[in-house]
Parts: sequence; structure tokens; C-alpha cells
Amino acid sequence: MEYYSTNHTAPVANLRKAVVKGLAEDRGLYMPEHINRMSKVFFDNMKDMSFRDIAYNVAEAFFGEDVDPDALQDLVYDTLPFDCPVVKVKDGIYSLELFHGPTLAFKDVGARFMARLLQYFIRQEGNHEQVNVLVATSGDTGSAVANGFLGVEGIHVYVLYPKGKVSPIQECQFTTLGQNITAIEVDGVFDDCQALVKNAFMDEELNRHMRLTSANSINVARFLPQAFYYFNAVAQLKQTGCDNIVVCVPSGNFGNICAALFGHEMGLPVKRFIAANNANDVFFNYLQTGRYEPKPSIQTLANAMDVGDPSNFARIYELYGKSHERITSLISGATYSDEQIKQTMRQCYAETGYVLDPHGACGYQALKELLQPGETGVFCETAHPAKFKEKVDEILGIDTPIPDRLAAFMKGTKQSVPMSKDFSDFKQFLMKE
Ligand SMILES: *Cc1c(COP(=O)(O)O)cnc(C)c1O
Repeated sequence: MEYYSTNHTAPVANLRKAVVKGLAEDRGLYMPEHINRMSKVFFDNMKDMSFRDIAYNVAEAFFGEDVDPDALQDLVYDTLPFDCPVVKVKDGIYSLELFHGPTLAFKDVGARFMARLLQYFIRQEGNHEQVNVLVATSGDTGSAVANGFLGVEGIHVYVLYPKGKVSPIQECQFTTLGQNITAIEVDGVFDDCQALVKNAFMDEELNRHMRLTSANSINVARFLPQAFYYFNAVAQLKQTGCDNIVVCVPSGNFGNICAALFGHEMGLPVKRFIAANNANDVFFNYLQTGRYEPKPSIQTLANAMDVGDPSNFARIYELYGKSHERITSLISGATYSDEQIKQTMRQCYAETGYVLDPHGACGYQALKELLQPGETGVFCETAHPAKFKEKVDEILGIDTPIPDRLAAFMKGTKQSVPMSKDFSDFKQFLMKE
């Protein structure tokens, strides 16, 4: 399969190049040239299939032309030693729990898949030059990528995160690992971290010095596998007889919802989608006005969604032929202040006993407000509430238990490299590596 750039001025790439390079030469995002529809047989059988087998079938549609079938199956099975269950919260509203992986957030799926696919391609090349993964994080990406790649031979990971703007629990998930993982604490906001990464890819001298790739949701190997769990969720809902399914995704950089939309193009029976945002409302405003106007990100309770210029907007725009009408006919939006997020968490806990994290709360609230009669809503619970324990405990007045795999990270020692937000400093550091 060939991948073209959303900016349309870079040459097309094969899967290997798209995965290793991450971003196209013209700074565009890679898009698969076509999207294969899943067969009728697959949809007929889906509700009786295991998650891993559903995932393998979907992976084959994306990557089957470029990866050997046995290797692809191993890769998918190895990515998913955990489940993504659908749990009923109240009548008509279900939670797709994406926090059962090693770092308790949905990004584990894409990060684990990407680490394994990248290793597959490096091994195939047979040259032993180290590949360096640069990843900017507003919290959860860093931990998922660092853990997905931990100990993977031939790959070094640099995690850039904004100083003081990720939760202590998130921070220890990528600063305590050591081995092939280096954490870089940037004196700035998430957008500064992302700018450093993007500049590094464009710097010729640096790229001659070391082989660089990204692991942000812009990488096709990270965002496409996220479609796996949407197929599985719909299969589970169909099994209980649900119809008119509405998928609601708490969104930041819009990689997760983008994967769901790709699933829809593959024939996944979802009636419509909702992108739920915190106070960072650039996409919400686009839906209302037809104008996409990026702005600096605002710090909120749901910090993994604090994105002022979501990269994957370019993919969504491209997917629907840049048509505002097509986009708004399928996707609606919602935006919530921190106060509203707290209210939602309290109300949901009081009414149902379900503990939402601040990100999932945006999704739940959007369904509560926007679901129409006869529809079944499923929102992504994108992280385990214990990842935001201080906030969740304070808001709900409870003592959220910390799962063992999370507690294990907190015992390690923090190690990170302090960095300014100037690209010249970052470049100088990398040139010495
Ligand atoms: C990354 C993240 C999001 C946003 O996902 P995007 O793919 O960037 O839209 C939402 N919630 C949590 C907990 C996250 O870690």
C-alpha cells in the first residue's frame, strides 16, 4: 500500500518509509492511498470472534500487503495481551474501557503495535544503525511509548514533556525506566515539545547525524491500530442487541477518533461520532464555523487533551475531501470547562457508582447531552482514574485504589534531562548523543 502526504507535495511512501519517517518531507501526515472495506463475512462473524482475531483481520486490511501474514499475526497478538471491554454505565450509555494495558491508557495499543512493527522493519533491513524515536507528550503518550519500546533492541526513545504540566504518576511512568529510554523535561508547554520534535525532523544536519522517527499519533503505525478496539466494541454491543451506535471520543490530538473514522470507512456500523473536548475547543469551533483556527493550548483537568492545534485534523479533513458539510453530517462536538468536568464526575459517581477520569468525563457528558432516542452511546474511557488520583480523589471525596502495575512505577527514581524550549539547545544535546 502506498501512503501520500496530506500536504500533497512529498513523494508517496511505502509502509516501511511511512513508519520509519513518521512525517512526510513536506511536513504533511501520511494517509493510506485507499481504505479497504471489510467483507460481509467478517461483519457477520464479528460478534463471535475474539478481540485478537478481530484485530488481526483489521490489521490485515491496513498492513496485509506489506507485512508477512504470520509476522503480522504475532505482532497483533503480542500487542494485545489485555482486553478492551465494554461496560454498561447506565441505560443506553457504555464505557469502552481502554485502560487495561501496561500504562493504563488507550495509547498502549498503538504504541505497542508501532514498537513491534518498527522492529520488524529494522530487522528486515539487516543494517544495525540505531533508530531514535522522538516523542512529545502531554502526559499519556510518553508513558505508553516508553513502555511499548522499553528494551526493544536497536531503538532509543527520547520523551519530551512539559515541565510541571503532567501528573506525578504520569511522569514516573517514563522518567524511571532507564535502559533505552531518555526523558527530557522541557521548560514550556506541550506545543513547545511538539515544535521541538517537528523541527528536529526537518533539520538536515541532525538527520545526517542520527536516524530519527516519531511515535506521536501522527505515525500511521500508532494511529491505525486504534481502529482494532472500535470493531471489538461494536461487536460486543451488537451481541447485546444494541443498534444505532454512537461513538464518542474524548479528543486532544484527534488520533483516536481518526482511527474510529477510518473504521467507519471500512464499513464499521456506527451511526455517527462525537468528538468531546475540554476547554481546548478548536475542533468544536471548526464544526460551528467551518474555519479551522489553531490557538495556544489551555491547561485543563483533562491534560492529555490540552492541544491547541490537533495534528490529525489534517487527516480528518483529507478523509472527507475537505468538505465541512460531510464532516458535520457525521461528527458533532462538545466542549467542557474544568468546572463542568468536575460536575460530571460527581454526578456520574452519585448516580451510577462509576468512577470517570477527567478525560472520560468529557465523553460521558457529551453522550448524556447529545444522544437521541433509539441510539446507544459508547464513550472511550481513555485512562484509568488512578492515573489522576490526586484530582479524582479530591473531586469525588474517595480514595481511588492504585492498580499494582501502576504502583510499581512509583517506586522508581526519576531521571530526566532539563531542556529549554529553544530548538538550538535541543539540537546541541542530540548532536552529542
Ligand atoms: C492522548 C489522550 C487523549 C486524546 O487522544 P487523541 O488521540 O490525542 O485525541 C484522551 N485521553 C487520554 C487519557 C489520553 O491519554
